[in-house]
Amino acid sequence: FSAINEEREIERDEFTPGIEPQATWCPGCGDFGVLKALKQAMPEVGKNPDEVALFTGIGCSGKLNSYFNSYGFHTIHGRSLPVARAAKLANPNLEVIAAGGDGDGYGIGGNHTIHTARENHDMTYIVFNNEIFGLTKGQTSPTSPKGHKSKTQPHGSAKSPIRPLSQQLNAGATYIARTAAVNPNQAKEIIAEAIEHDGFAHIDFLTQCPTWNKDAKHYVPYTDVQQSDEFDFDVSDRAEAAEMMRKTEERLYEGEVLTGRMYIEDERPSYGEEKRQIGEMPEEPLAERYFDEDAEWE
Ligand code: SF4
Repeated sequence: FSAINEEREIERDEFTPGIEPQATWCPGCGDFGVLKALKQAMPEVGKNPDEVALFTGIGCSGKLNSYFNSYGFHTIHGRSLPVARAAKLANPNLEVIAAGGDGDGYGIGGNHTIHTARENHDMTYIVFNNEIFGLTKGQTSPTSPKGHKSKTQPHGSAKSPIRPLSQQLNAGATYIARTAAVNPNQAKEIIAEAIEHDGFAHIDFLTQCPTWNKDAKHYVPYTDVQQSDEFDFDVSDRAEAAEMMRKTEERLYEGEVLTGRMYIEDERPSYGEEKRQIGEMPEEPLAERYFDEDAEWE
C-alpha cells in the first residue's frame, strides 16, 4: 500500500472505477445509496483512492469493491473485519473501511464484529442492513423481524432480531450511528465523520431490498434524531446513548425509523495506538519494514 498525500482537491469521480453496479444490483436496491454516499464522503475527508482500502464480505454488499476505486479485498463470508484489522495494523496511514451485509456482519461474522469493537480498531465498518440475506435469495437474517416469513422460516421467524446498536455500544465501539439509503446527505456526513473518527466506527446502514424483502417499506420516512425536538440526548453520554439506542431499535420494528449519531467517544485510544504506546508495535508502519531489506526485527 502506498499513499500520495498530495495537497489537492479530491473529486468523487476518482472513486468510480468504470464498472457499472447496474450489472449486478437490482433496480431500487439500497446498495446504490451506500455507494453514492461513500463516494461523496471521500472528497469531504480529502482522501486519494490510493490512501483507502475497502474490505468486504460475501453478499450483494460485497460487490462494493468492484464499484469503488481504491485498494480492496473481497474476503470470505463474515471475515472482512479481521483482514481489515491486519491491514490497518500493518499500515496505520491507510484509511481502512470494511463493509458487509447484516447476515455477514451480525451473523456469520458476528464474533469479529464484537471483538473489533471491543478492541477499538481504527476503521469504519458499514453494515448494509436490509433484514434478509439478499444474494442467496431472501433467507431470514439476524435482523429480520420476529414473524418474518421466508424460504428458511415459512411459518414466520420465532427469533427476536439482534440489536446491533446496543450490541456495539456494549462491545466497545467508540462511534455508532444509524443512517439510511433513502437519506444520502445524512449518510454522506455520517460516513465522513466515521472515517475521521480515531477508533472503531460502526454504521448500521438501513438498505432496502425490493427484490426479496418488499415488506420492509418502513425505511421511509425516517427521523433524524439530531434534527428532531422529540429527542434530546448527549451522544457522548453512555447511559443516554444506550436509552436512545433502545428506543431506536424498538421503534424500527414498529414502523418508525430513527437515524443519526447514537454514540461518540473521543478519548479512548485505538488498538494500534495502544500497542504503540506500550511498545508492542514500532512507531513507523510495519508495512514499510516488510519492504526494507535492512530492517531489524526483534
Ligand atoms: Fe439489492 Fe436485494 Fe437485489 Fe441484492 S437481491 S442487489 S440486496 S435488491
